[in-house]
Amino acid sequence: MKTSILIIYTGGTIGMVKDPVTGSLKPFDFDHILKQVPELKNFGFELTSIAFDPLIDSSNLNPEVWIRIANLIKENYEKYEGFVVLHGTDTMAYSASALSFMLENLGKPVVFTGSQLPIGMLRTDGKENLITAIEIAADYKNGKAIVPEVCVLFENKLFRGNRTTKHNAEYFNAFYSYNYPDLAKVGINIHYNNAVIRNVSDGMFSINTNLDMNIAILKLFPGINKQTVDAILNIEGLRAVVMETYGAGNAPTDEWFIDSIKDAISRGVIIYNVTQCPSGSVNMGLYETGVILRDIGVVSGYDITTEGAITKLMFLLGQPLDSDKIIFYLNKSIKGELC
Ligand code: ASP
Repeated sequence: MKTSILIIYTGGTIGMVKDPVTGSLKPFDFDHILKQVPELKNFGFELTSIAFDPLIDSSNLNPEVWIRIANLIKENYEKYEGFVVLHGTDTMAYSASALSFMLENLGKPVVFTGSQLPIGMLRTDGKENLITAIEIAADYKNGKAIVPEVCVLFENKLFRGNRTTKHNAEYFNAFYSYNYPDLAKVGINIHYNNAVIRNVSDGMFSINTNLDMNIAILKLFPGINKQTVDAILNIEGLRAVVMETYGAGNAPTDEWFIDSIKDAISRGVIIYNVTQCPSGSVNMGLYETGVILRDIGVVSGYDITTEGAITKLMFLLGQPLDSDKIIFYLNKSIKGELC
């Protein structure tokens, strides 16, 4: 029997064409993509595609799209060996992170990819990305998927999805995983780093689409004032804040600042400490400026990305868990999102 792969085309540059009037890029249909890559036939795979209608520029994405992707994977889980999600690069790291939490007991590859140049353009990176993503989604050994994870394939690297960040708006290496090794390097061969790929868990595959979006990001900068901090911390219905701190998780020690954070925590708002540095980890024991945060109940994000932190919070807050349990899960890796 032929290997079958489902391609879920959500939109993004990969399938865009130039609007003849404005000259800006807008999404085009999937047949257009497939026509540009006749080589796909050489795989001998059964390739099926489902395209979103309308196709979306991923900057317009909201969590409803994640729920749609999760449902599509669930409905088609038994029929396909692997899944490729074609997605705009702008928010791909958020989507791959969110899906990693929403898919339970995943035993098949879910490979996100897209491109920096539309697939119809001469120097496109879309062709190679699409071909390699399909190959990885179809790669099995002894009946088991080699990468049973939500991952991102871009240029010549495969990353764990919830460890990625879009770090380049110009070059083809749009994504990077600063705190976790590549799952595979793509050259003449695809070299999998099996030691860092997640194992399949035994349970039945299922999805969990309960998300709570009552969160915010508070990014610190020298000179941030009380009015700004309080405006964020007092948003109605707010349940958690990703606080992007300096270095190893440090923040100002001004009394007004600490009092505002303390006040939010006393109202039950979770303050999740994520470093502004792309690489490295929060360690609230290192400097006095971090120790104070730890002592008032700020939760460490360790080496999680902001994309991972946002989607992990949305996911955990969407579950019927009390605050202590949410903090317990924030402190540990649930899908390989932190060390
Ligand atoms: N704005 C596009 C999107 O994210 C960019 C891309 O696909 O690279 O959909």
